[in-house]
Amino acid sequence: MNNISISKQLFARAQESIPGGVNSPVRAFKSVGGTPLFIRRAKGAHLFDVDDNQYIDYIASWGPMILGHAYEPVVKAIQEYAAYSTSYGAPTELEIKMAELIRSMVPNVDLIRMVSSGTEACMSAIRVARGYTGRNKILKFEGCYHGHADSFLVKAGSGVATFNIQAVPGVTAGVSADTLTCAYNDLDAVKQLAAAHKGEIAAIIVEPVAGNMGCILPQPGFLEGIRQICDEDGIVFIFDEVMTGFRLSQGGAQQTLGINADLVTYGKVIGAGMPVGAFGGKKEIMQVVAPLGNVYQAGTLSGNPIAMIAGYTLLSELRNNPSLYHELDTKTAYLKDGLQNVLDNWGQPFVINHFGSMISIHFSEKPVTDFASAAAANNARFSSFFHAMLQHGVYLPPSAFESWFLNNALSYEDLDKTIEAARQSLAGL
Ligand SMILES: *Cc1c(COP(=O)(O)O)cnc(C)c1O
Repeated sequence: MNNISISKQLFARAQESIPGGVNSPVRAFKSVGGTPLFIRRAKGAHLFDVDDNQYIDYIASWGPMILGHAYEPVVKAIQEYAAYSTSYGAPTELEIKMAELIRSMVPNVDLIRMVSSGTEACMSAIRVARGYTGRNKILKFEGCYHGHADSFLVKAGSGVATFNIQAVPGVTAGVSADTLTCAYNDLDAVKQLAAAHKGEIAAIIVEPVAGNMGCILPQPGFLEGIRQICDEDGIVFIFDEVMTGFRLSQGGAQQTLGINADLVTYGKVIGAGMPVGAFGGKKEIMQVVAPLGNVYQAGTLSGNPIAMIAGYTLLSELRNNPSLYHELDTKTAYLKDGLQNVLDNWGQPFVINHFGSMISIHFSEKPVTDFASAAAANNARFSSFFHAMLQHGVYLPPSAFESWFLNNALSYEDLDKTIEAARQSLAGL
């Protein structure tokens, strides 16, 4: 067993001052059991905890560290800009450069507004869609997570699913009533809801590749069908690309899947590990945003210079070296093949879902295509697997309802070690 005595002490101390000892629920290891590791530092694909254990990292800060931790151009840029002051509350040229860079990478974004988190991006996008259409209802999918704004905490994925919270106290019935839900990949259900609520739905929001119930792929025709429904009934189609943006490709899921969204939200990779989110889209819709229009949305630290230079530096690297995506996808496919092989030899039921540099394992007999099938998997077995992998120096997301994120600092040696760790871990289950 790894010695994690300092993490244990810190976790006990943290719980005296912080709810559950963490500032975001999934970090607490509550669903897999055990003590969350407190991290001291990271470099490339490797995390080091406070007890000096080393791990190969498959969380990558839930996505942002796509080129690895402490990526030197980003660290240097932050250091340089921090010396000029960390915030002004007035516009900077950097914000224009960031917006221009994003527009040069991503389709269908005429105007874009920076915020400080994915939650803010999604809640703002919904307000814009409601303001633009004059309608109240939204439609989301079971197991998709769009941040913790009230409207989205209905059948949400990520921590809400991990902790099996059915109805979130504090979210009013009125708000919940305006959120329609149906199963991911169930186009017929979308059609029925759209028909039953004709002229009432402001927006359909979706994770174009879902990552908050494990990794779940959109089935052929699902997103295309929603696009058509939105066109027919004047519904704003929102791609929540907080995970997929700048990860699946420069242009995110819109580009990779060849489907156009009306509004798009970003987070995670866009800030290189700083608190950044963004929402953007067609001019016709985005021009309702204040001060151009009356849909109010604001932020004291929105477009913060340190956050902007971090994101700008990372996105520039991704834009200038498109082969990075090919490298990353090839590594992920290599990992998938290796895991598939050891799981086949192990002989118990499993499903690997994989898209680009997102991947997850469900201990399931049936294909995992939506929240119900993800929840029906043997998630106790996932917890055992998670802990065994940790003992072998591999840090996976501490929940079966989360995708793993690869970063391009992973070497083939790291991947081979991970595959061998999986073989040993499965043998001990
Ligand atoms: C993480 C996530 C969010 C929320 O972003 P935060 O920065 O945690 O507020 C929203 N949507 C998706 C798809 C996410 O994965």
